[in-house]
Amino acid sequence: MNLIRPIRVLTPRLANQIAAGEVVERPASVAKELIENALDAGATNIDVDCYAGGVGRLCVRDNGHGITSDQLPLALSRHATSKILNLDDLESVVTLGFRGEALASIASVSRLEIKSAVEDCPGARVSIEGRDMIPVVEATAHPRGTSVDVRDLFFNTPARRKFLKTEKTEFGHIDSIFTRQSLGRFDVSFSLTNQDRLIRRLPMANTDILKAERVTTLLGEQFIKNALEVRAEAVGFSLKGWVCRATHNRAQADVQHVFVNGRIVKDKLVSHALRQAFRDVLFHGRHPCYLLYLEIDPTQVDVNVHPTKYEVRFRDSRLIYDFFLKSVTRVLADDRPSNFKPVKLLSTESRFSGQLSHQSGLNIEDARSNVGIETISALMYRESHSNDKVKTSTDSMPPLGYALAQLHGVYILAQATEGLILVDMHAAHERIIYEALKLAMDDSGLVSQPLLIPLVIHVDEGTATTAEDTLEIFDQFGLGLQRIGPESIRLDRVPALLRNASHEELIRDVLADIAEFGISERLKASRDQVLSKMACYGAIRANRPLSLAEMNALLRDIERTERSGQCNHGRPTWTFISMHELDRLFSRGR
Ligand code: ADP
Ligand code: MG
Repeated sequence: MNLIRPIRVLTPRLANQIAAGEVVERPASVAKELIENALDAGATNIDVDCYAGGVGRLCVRDNGHGITSDQLPLALSRHATSKILNLDDLESVVTLGFRGEALASIASVSRLEIKSAVEDCPGARVSIEGRDMIPVVEATAHPRGTSVDVRDLFFNTPARRKFLKTEKTEFGHIDSIFTRQSLGRFDVSFSLTNQDRLIRRLPMANTDILKAERVTTLLGEQFIKNALEVRAEAVGFSLKGWVCRATHNRAQADVQHVFVNGRIVKDKLVSHALRQAFRDVLFHGRHPCYLLYLEIDPTQVDVNVHPTKYEVRFRDSRLIYDFFLKSVTRVLADDRPSNFKPVKLLSTESRFSGQLSHQSGLNIEDARSNVGIETISALMYRESHSNDKVKTSTDSMPPLGYALAQLHGVYILAQATEGLILVDMHAAHERIIYEALKLAMDDSGLVSQPLLIPLVIHVDEGTATTAEDTLEIFDQFGLGLQRIGPESIRLDRVPALLRNASHEELIRDVLADIAEFGISERLKASRDQVLSKMACYGAIRANRPLSLAEMNALLRDIERTERSGQCNHGRPTWTFISMHELDRLFSRGR
């Protein structure tokens, strides 16, 4: 039976509670809105106090411009804001808030009190009682600024309260909002307490060193040690901040912070562009870390997309996508030793502290068995002449220095101006060949050269047929293949870059791929994947003894090559241990 019910106007509290559904999901959303209000009020200091996961109580105090006592009740009404007046203002809004609904929403689902004072005026407090949300104002003492005190969140909406997690988890969300907000504004000092215990205190950070300190406190030392600076400009917008080299990555996409005009955004377009930028250097399935600030003419971005204001819409999204992609790709490509500058911190140690331990097997005895007497004597020669030979020529010392020896046939040790360089020779060589192959492919195609003695490979009949069907594709990659019998194929041409590759293994591997994934289209589409595979087979294998000249040639190649900090699988190719760290290992004071 359908009863016709009368239409009624909702009470103000109920209307606000419904609106609160979108804005106030959990205590952390309250923290976000209150911190944003403090920032909009021009605060230079913001303190956040949290009790019982922010459900029991959450206070945010600021030293902003405050609210006059006659305006206090208005602050709590829905659709009341001091930030915009008309539609034009909305199109160029520069404040974080503008919808005028946060305080009304929060007040409808909690016990809320605001104390505030403007410069040279006595303070006032306001709280809300009853379902009609009539605010009560009284005089009170308060310094310039505003304190908002929110207690018993969701006390009157039990259904929402049920969705909350443990106090610890809720505090974790508050801490992460606090972290993001404070990464957005280095010119403001912040503090966060939990149950009266100080969790974070962040002084104002108005120098590069202090900024790096704040980032270290909030995102960890490894972030800043691996950070590459981004600075890009285009007409109408600019991008600044840091991306971490691909070798510093995470299982979750949790260290990815993007600010648009100071506003935290979670934008699919931007994160896609960044994923693309890292595509070629990142270990599969891992997530890059970044902290980026886009400044853009406010009229070019629509911030009124969702009540929580995390989403934005760019007027020219293609342009922004390309800008992110190109800027970050450039920074990652430029990450080669010649540009290597460790970020300086007050508490600085260099990039890879403590990695070299006694277990690492750095031991001349072992080295000797692999590299032969000659290399070791060269090493000793360098040692004994290090004062006059190397030190005097530090000016002309290349960034990765000069090779000393090969360790266990895997690593190259080199002496650089400020310490020891360790290179994974296979990984580094693989990247060098890969970048060279890509360049050649983009340029005029891969130049191949005939093999002195063509290589005959015996395969099963199916594979031989696959090969016959895909000769064209192999040809594109500079591999001259022919079928010469029911179960044999012949390779007679290879790209010049792959002269010394393990050709048979390469061909078998690519054929196996084709057999597994089906013919060609995939291969054509994944050009870079094939090139990467070719590079892997073309790179020097472990355990091949190298002469000092060969090692030095490799070091120079690394310096020249883009993205040479990581191998094709996203692992690091070289690392640096400073004299300072070595001294520490031996408790040697300087
Ligand atoms: P909005 O931020 O979208 O304007 P809010 O409900 O968050 O809406 O706040 C309503 C109004 O109250 C703001 O426009 C502002 O004038 C005032 N206000 C809120 N918080 C503060 C604060 N911390 N300092 C000064 N004014 C504030
Ligand atoms: Mg607001």
